[in-house]
Amino acid sequence: MIPFNKPHITGKELEFISDAVACGHISGNGKYTKLCQNLIEEKWGFQKCLLTTSCTDALEMAAILLDIKPGDEVIVPSFTFVSTALAFVRQGANIVFADSRPDHPGIDEYQLEQLITPKTRAIIVVHYAGVAVDMTPLMDVARRYKIPVVEDAAQAIDGYYLTNGQSRVLGSFGVLSAFSFHETKNIQSGEGGMLVINDPSLAKRAEIIWEKGTNRAEFFRGEVNKYGWVDVGSSFLPADTIAAFLYAQLIDLKEIQARRVQLWNHYHQLFTDWSCEQIQLPVIPQFSTNNGHMFYLLFENVHVRQKLIAHLKANGVMAVFHYLPLHLSTYYTDKHDGRSLPNSEKFADRLLRLPLYYDLTFGQQEFIVSLIRAFFSRN
Ligand SMILES: *Cc1c(COP(=O)(O)O)cnc(C)c1O
Repeated sequence: MIPFNKPHITGKELEFISDAVACGHISGNGKYTKLCQNLIEEKWGFQKCLLTTSCTDALEMAAILLDIKPGDEVIVPSFTFVSTALAFVRQGANIVFADSRPDHPGIDEYQLEQLITPKTRAIIVVHYAGVAVDMTPLMDVARRYKIPVVEDAAQAIDGYYLTNGQSRVLGSFGVLSAFSFHETKNIQSGEGGMLVINDPSLAKRAEIIWEKGTNRAEFFRGEVNKYGWVDVGSSFLPADTIAAFLYAQLIDLKEIQARRVQLWNHYHQLFTDWSCEQIQLPVIPQFSTNNGHMFYLLFENVHVRQKLIAHLKANGVMAVFHYLPLHLSTYYTDKHDGRSLPNSEKFADRLLRLPLYYDLTFGQQEFIVSLIRAFFSRN
């Protein structure tokens, strides 16, 4: 059996977890939390980052930090994971769903402006499959209307936006950005995430919201002589044992990314050599790098895709589709303004993700592609 995902273990996780336990500080904001945060801030030049228990939590922190209130409008792509919208719905926001680009599941930058109203309080972008949204036109619209941008960079660790011969790391554009270390992501700690705070005026409050609405982090740094309840918040910080696990992954990031990109390229080569007309390959626009997060294919319609999923499964290969468009979801459909979002619906019907994880072998990839070839030669 070839599973859809298999979390990679670098081998140093248990050693670091033991050390965290031996240090005697296993609640949040301990030695490994600081090691991770410092490494991330230095590597990517982020002003400040805070580890969280998930990307969902980081997005919830973003919604609180932006003071999203009932009746505010927040623009969110429809083709994304539930959390991208849910975090803002919890603050009472009305979600205005945006469509995908015709050629890529990411938000259509050129249809964004028409969704903005006087009530728009935030624009959320998702760097789908670790592929950058075209940030130049997007940030241009956001700046003109003075609307903060939040990046859902759950899939985008170490991804870059390329413009004028320069590269800029994803997660550095929005006032805030959220990353995931869920076991299905490139580097992982089972469950885990982080919030990146690019607007320095939000940094102090972010730390308070992170620590249950208290100024405890300041207290432990000796900046105030007592701590107490000063704001809203929740318990968003992970135990230091989780951070210890993540640290083992972070120090191996380069190797993990290189392997994933190698596997992605191998799939791409196998499909390019075959050049089947019934299959569309993923597009990496010239303004984006590829971080090897996901390899997907597009088919002519939902029926072909579902038949292929069954064919692969019958042969021991677990390939999966996602997402169900959020504007058509059970929870939101009667709250949605009724616009149809044809590109989001198209990707929902036609997209299939193939297994892609560090320990996958070229031989297994060749087997998967041979099953797909057999399927299309029969159908
Ligand atoms: C995985 C994912 C999330 C949720 O991440 P968690 O860490 O599981 O909360 C949110 N948005 C996108 C785009 C994702 O891929």
